[in-house]
Amino acid sequence: MDKFLRRKDSSSSTDDEEPRTSVTKNLKKVVKRKYDEDYIKYGFSWCGDETAPRPQCIICGDQLSNESMVPSKLKRHLYSSHPSCANKDKQYFKRCLEQNKKQKKFMKSAVTVSEKALEASYHVAKLIARQKKPHTVGETLIKPACMKIVRLMLGPNEVKEVNKVSLFADTVKRRIHDMSSDILGTLIKKLLSAEKFDD
Ligand SMILES: [Zn+2]
Repeated sequence: MDKFLRRKDSSSSTDDEEPRTSVTKNLKKVVKRKYDEDYIKYGFSWCGDETAPRPQCIICGDQLSNESMVPSKLKRHLYSSHPSCANKDKQYFKRCLEQNKKQKKFMKSAVTVSEKALEASYHVAKLIARQKKPHTVGETLIKPACMKIVRLMLGPNEVKEVNKVSLFADTVKRRIHDMSSDILGTLIKKLLSAEKFDD
């Protein structure tokens, strides 16, 4: 058994080494193409690794391989996939690129707000559970109170954000249930991994 295991180990280590060396050999052969600022006239920006950037179409978001970072291939994509944009100038693509960036930023902030709202909802549910208050207190007292305070102290836009925190009785009930089953799960895991119970 020992021999078998050892043999398996040694063979797997050589297996590991071989591809590694061949990868480095391959990398030396492959030419890494760089992005040229001028490529924006073909409707392309770049993404990924700076040392081996991949062309990314500004119109459809498609990513091509680093090998395709040549005017002929970028042009082919533009003419075949977006013929209506084929005659646009650099300025047009620059504007599109800016627009894309703004949209991405907006999407990102939308995600973080909803994540924060979700987290806040859990925190409040925890407070309600700890104080042994009815689940309805979230929607009947806590949320209206928060909104009043925020409106006075911060402003109407901030109230809209606070309004995203769900504190309906059903939601609070679900959150408390989620948290208690999570605690129970963690406790069971800890008990199972503990070797002795008498400590
Ligand atoms: Zn495209």
